[in-house]
Amino acid sequence: MPRRRRWGFRSAQVGLGDPLGPRAPAASASPVSVLPCAGAAGELVQERLDPVDGICQELPQLTLFEPFLEAVRQRFPLLVAAHASIVARRSVKSSAVGSVRVQFLGSGDAFASGGRFQTCFHLAGSDESLLIDCGATALVALKRAAIDPASIGWVALSHLHGDHFAGLPWLILDGQFARRTRPLVVAGPPGTEVRFKQTFEALYPGASSVVRPFEIRFVELVQRTRCELGPAVVTPFEVAHGSGAPPYALRVEYGGKLIGYSGDTEWTDSLIDAARGADLFICECNFLDKRVPGHLDYQTLSEKRAQLDCERLVITHMSDDMLGHLGEVDIEAANDGMVIAL
Ligand SMILES: [Zn+2]
Ligand SMILES: [Zn+2]
Repeated sequence: MPRRRRWGFRSAQVGLGDPLGPRAPAASASPVSVLPCAGAAGELVQERLDPVDGICQELPQLTLFEPFLEAVRQRFPLLVAAHASIVARRSVKSSAVGSVRVQFLGSGDAFASGGRFQTCFHLAGSDESLLIDCGATALVALKRAAIDPASIGWVALSHLHGDHFAGLPWLILDGQFARRTRPLVVAGPPGTEVRFKQTFEALYPGASSVVRPFEIRFVELVQRTRCELGPAVVTPFEVAHGSGAPPYALRVEYGGKLIGYSGDTEWTDSLIDAARGADLFICECNFLDKRVPGHLDYQTLSEKRAQLDCERLVITHMSDDMLGHLGEVDIEAANDGMVIAL
């Protein structure tokens, strides 16, 4: 049987557009091929398609053949559209290694155990950066890491305890005096805006009504509902941790990677959903083996580890009790300033 010729093209080079739209850094940053493949006579080379989802895995290696591209697009428009849809669904997994940088600005609990800052993670990549949680020490942690606080346009909050959201007043006041203009969007559980204003007023009376040179907007995250948050898509999963508002684990799609975060919680099967398929799952681990309502311990997490379907698991939010045994555990632990490239 004569060897078949095949052609392919890449979406970015033929102007098909980004299948995820303008807020999809992953797809635009990654060379994702788009069908069709065609044989010499123009027929589809169906045996080249991935049997699972129809994506041709060999196309990235093919040489472009520009004069043929437009003819192929015209001949197989429906297939091109269908494939773009598949690529969009898979694009979260398509980015190159190292395209996202996760920095643990704060990996401590509420009580500065180990001298650590309170919870705050910084996601950076080819798109705008984003903070996950903004504990009371977030501003000093940002400045210590030489990250301009005014560069933070997006914050996703897991729950409304001070060691996870109380850094917002200083982030905002710092922006006010630095003449920041970039808007700030804060996504969190229902009640986030009210709780923030109460906190701001308690710390700096009158502050919440000051006119600032930048806009502050609040977005309420709804349980198990995907929410576009600037460069990311955030999905919250309700967990078990009393905080006066629904407490969430967060699943953050950012730069083509999936980052899961438990928030504060005792074990709940919601964590299985939040961690599923994640490139990185950051999990609180407050205690070594002490069972305390609303928090996890290392012993429980070890027993449940196999249920967390994630590429990499890192523990955070550790008490002195837990920190004192880090040399004995077999799960990777965060520390302040640590950077993970995904
Ligand atoms: Zn908490
Ligand atoms: Zn906490």
